[in-house]
Amino acid sequence: MDVKNCPRCNRIFIPQGGRRICPVCVKEEEKQFDKVREYLRDNPGAPLLMVIQETGVDEDTILHFIKEGRIEASQMSGASLQCDSCGAPITSGRYCNKCQEDLARDLQRLTGGAKEKTPAREIKNRPKDKMFTADLKE
Ligand SMILES: [Zn+2]
Ligand SMILES: [Zn+2]
Repeated sequence: MDVKNCPRCNRIFIPQGGRRICPVCVKEEEKQFDKVREYLRDNPGAPLLMVIQETGVDEDTILHFIKEGRIEASQMSGASLQCDSCGAPITSGRYCNKCQEDLARDLQRLTGGAKEKTPAREIKNRPKDKMFTADLKE
């Protein structure tokens, strides 16, 4: 059977539906999420450090919520999230807009969504004449 150690509490559990943490921690995380969300609703734009202090939720967990897109980094101040690809500062998700576009394009290419035709013009316009004159000069 496929078992995993929970990265939060080290309990052994069977990952279901792509879960990265055990069911106990999932519940715990939901509670923490509610706390953070409620705190931010009452204190919009609060500094990240205050949110950590007041809710007792650690920074990693809060940043994780932001990465999942459940909380916007812009809802508090001092929360810094970086693009997984280029390290640019972002406010939600995993990638900045630019890298998201790049990824979407790569994905399209991989799935064959955008089949690029080889431009025939380039082949026709080979600079034969120039090469010829260069040969004559020598
Ligand atoms: Zn756990
Ligand atoms: Zn980026």
